[in-house]
Amino acid sequence: MTARRLDGRELAGRIERDLSDRVSHFHEKSGRRPRLVVVLVGEVAASASYVKSKAAAAERVGIDAEVVRVPASVQTDDLAALVAAIGRDEQGLVDGILVQLPLPDHVDAVAVLDAVPPDKDVDGFHPENAGLLSQGRPRFIPCTAAGVQRMLVDAGIETRGRHAVIVGRSDIVGKPLALLLAGRGPGGDATVSLCHSHTADLAAFTRQADILIAAVGQPRLITADMVKPGATVIDVGINRIEEAGRGRLVGDVDHDPVAAVAGALSPVPGGVGPLTVAMLLENTLQAARDRQAAAA
Ligand code: NAD
Repeated sequence: MTARRLDGRELAGRIERDLSDRVSHFHEKSGRRPRLVVVLVGEVAASASYVKSKAAAAERVGIDAEVVRVPASVQTDDLAALVAAIGRDEQGLVDGILVQLPLPDHVDAVAVLDAVPPDKDVDGFHPENAGLLSQGRPRFIPCTAAGVQRMLVDAGIETRGRHAVIVGRSDIVGKPLALLLAGRGPGGDATVSLCHSHTADLAAFTRQADILIAAVGQPRLITADMVKPGATVIDVGINRIEEAGRGRLVGDVDHDPVAAVAGALSPVPGGVGPLTVAMLLENTLQAARDRQAAAA
């Protein structure tokens, strides 16, 4: 079997085209463009490249994106105060704020993320938004988790009654995704196992998965023998490795051997990554609409 390729780039393109229309409509009605502020701390090359692609995607659909650069030496209190000041938005210009992760080790990321006002929290990391998601009444869903669910729904992969096994329990990917897939309705109603670094016999779980999602950050952790024939495999991992003397990106899934076993497989790059960006844009438009409605 050769797995069907779940092409996130193509789907993100369709989402962007639809978003462009909705953003134009918002602009016509409100007389302004939605605005996203991205806070980028330090000079980490990968973070700078993610921020660049988020800003470029925003501009493509008609969302203004401003990047606020902060030196890596910033202290937690100062960064939290800056984020809070952007959030207070005294000129009434800002719809969404995101703080690009990871932050330098000496910075308390929780304190900084908590400073993002929940109604501008387009990454969905604020405890209020995490709580709403856990109660099944989401406001902003963390973008990567939302992107994985969108990919499944768009590909017509049934989740209801299926066993979804998620490897990785982070607050930004694994945990919200578990809530989404176990929630009610389309793209939900699955039975979810949430595996992590203390899971005993990981392969015993992954082999039971109808839908297997790897969100760990370990190159090729998921090998073909860990996958049930015909399963859907979503690879969230992004790992930079050196191979044959040059750097390249690989996921958490050993792609070619797994593609010979799985029924569907998302590639890295070109899978979940572009959808994460598309979901950020969706969240930003939603934040703009909510703010406009609150002001009316
Ligand atoms: P994280 O480091 O916060 O969490 C990793 C999780 O993996 C932890 O819950 C840990 O318990 C688990 N884990 C570690 N080793 C394990 C093992 N051997 N077996 C089972 N579980 C293990 O990472 P994160 O922020 O959730 O990101 C995970 C991966 O997804 C990274 O490669 C990251 O770059 C990528 N990512 C991709 C996107 C995207 O848009 N495609 C977005 C966010 C993160």
